[in-house]
Amino acid sequence: MALRVHQFPVLSDNYAFLVRDEATGRTAAVDTPDATAILGELERLGWGLDLILNTHWHPDHAGGNAEVKAATGCEIVGPPEVIRIAPLDRVVADGDVVELGETRFAVIGCGGHTLEHVTYHDAADRVAFVGDTLFALGCGRVVEGDAAQMWASLQRLTKAIPDDTALYCAHEYTAANARFALTVDDAPALRARADAVFAARERGEPTVPSLMGLEKATNPFLRAPALAPRIGKAGAPDHEAFGAVRAAKDVFKG
Ligand code: ZN
Ligand code: FE
Repeated sequence: MALRVHQFPVLSDNYAFLVRDEATGRTAAVDTPDATAILGELERLGWGLDLILNTHWHPDHAGGNAEVKAATGCEIVGPPEVIRIAPLDRVVADGDVVELGETRFAVIGCGGHTLEHVTYHDAADRVAFVGDTLFALGCGRVVEGDAAQMWASLQRLTKAIPDDTALYCAHEYTAANARFALTVDDAPALRARADAVFAARERGEPTVPSLMGLEKATNPFLRAPALAPRIGKAGAPDHEAFGAVRAAKDVFKG
């Protein structure tokens, strides 16, 4: 694979990602949840940093921008909302392409968690950095947008990203997501996956990355239309079924 992805846990439940175009050695950080940890990891690996690719403006994603840029001289790329808390050198939106050496990231707009959230999709290497939009067995809270926007964003991602693509989600939320998923969906594939997730977390292993095909088959947010009759939304528009699943998760204590 031409893009090497180095993933490591930071803060309480975030993942940081350093990605390196193997042909040229050009390197990017996808978001900056923890500047100290990211700079330490770059030093340990002996890597410079050329780019920061921000998915959205939240502090656990762009909060380290200024410190990482000051230490490395990298360029910062992200949606316009990032300037609310951090410097930004290049603004991107849906349909743009960001190059890292020979690697090309398509920018997919996926607002809802925040209004201008974006995903970075490297189709050649079958990897996508989905930030806080899509999680393993979950999705981001709809903080700034509404259920219709978030549902449209999830549909855009499932159409644009093939099933065999690795999804790099920004948080390790999967065990809690699985406990919730089992309350709204009894698909056999979900039960099997949930057991595998609980076992992996017992062993201290990450459940990220996931795969788009696996999410389509087992993620209750992507499956909301199929679950509609179970959640009192039979015949409702898809985004309303999605909104009902999201609302149930928002109050789930498990
Ligand atoms: Zn966020
Ligand atoms: Fe986050």
